[in-house]
Amino acid sequence: MRIIDTHAHLWDAKYDVDALEVINDFMSEHKGNVLVAVGTNFEDCKKLCEINQKNVFKAMGIHPQFATGYDPQVFDLIRVNKDDIVAIGEIGLDYYYGKDEREAQLDLLYKQFELAVELDKPVILHCREASGDLVDMINKFPTLRGVVHCYSGSLETAKILMAKGFYLGVGGSYTFNNNKKLKEIIKELGLENVVLETDSPYLAPVPLRGKVNRPQYVRYVARAIADDLSISEDEVLSITNANALKLFNLENV
Ligand SMILES: [Zn+2]
Repeated sequence: MRIIDTHAHLWDAKYDVDALEVINDFMSEHKGNVLVAVGTNFEDCKKLCEINQKNVFKAMGIHPQFATGYDPQVFDLIRVNKDDIVAIGEIGLDYYYGKDEREAQLDLLYKQFELAVELDKPVILHCREASGDLVDMINKFPTLRGVVHCYSGSLETAKILMAKGFYLGVGGSYTFNNNKKLKEIIKELGLENVVLETDSPYLAPVPLRGKVNRPQYVRYVARAIADDLSISEDEVLSITNANALKLFNLENV
C-alpha cells in the first residue's frame, strides 16, 4: 500500500542528497506515494516553486523561528502561487526556542491564518509549549482547518483540536521509547483524526533514530502504531492516508 508523508522539508543542511533525490527515492518505493513538502521562509518557498513532480504537493509559510526579520514578500509569493499549494505552512508558535518573541509570533500567525482563510487553504501548524495560545488563536478563525504537525500536546488539547476538525500529525517521535504520552493519546482517540509524517530530515523513527530522516521512513511509524493498536500496518495506512487526502483536498490523487 502507498504511503503519504504529510510533512517533509526538502532543503536542509542535514541532507547529504539533493531535493530531487529525496523525492525520487521516495517515489521509487511505491509509485502512488504522496509527499507534502513544506516551506518555512521566503527562500525555501521560492525553491519549492521550482519543484514540479507528480504526487509532490507544496505548502508555503513562515515558520515561527523567523517571526522577527522575515521577508514579507512571502505573502505575495503565496498569493501568486495559490493554485500550486495545498496548505499554508509550516507556521505556528514555538515558545521552547522563542519565548521572547511571543508577540511577534502571535502577530505573524494571525496574519497567516487570515491568509489561509482568504485563500481557503488548510494550515500546517508547528506548536511547541504554546498550546494555550494556539487554541486561542484557532478560536478566532472558526472556519480554519488543518493539522498540528509532530503533535506533542496533551490529551485535552488533542480533544479540543479534534472537535474543531483539526488533525494530529504523528511522526518519528511516536516510536521513541520515552513518548508514552502520544501513545496513550492515540490509544484513547484512535486514528480518526491522525495523519502520518516524517518531518524529514529530522526525527528519524526507531530503528533509524539519530540518522537523517527520509520520507519513506513513514512506514516505520505506521508499523509502530499498528503494533500498539493490534491492527495491521495496511489498516493504519488506509485510515491515515484517507485522512491526509481529505485534509489537503487531494481525494482524486
Ligand atoms: Zn517541519
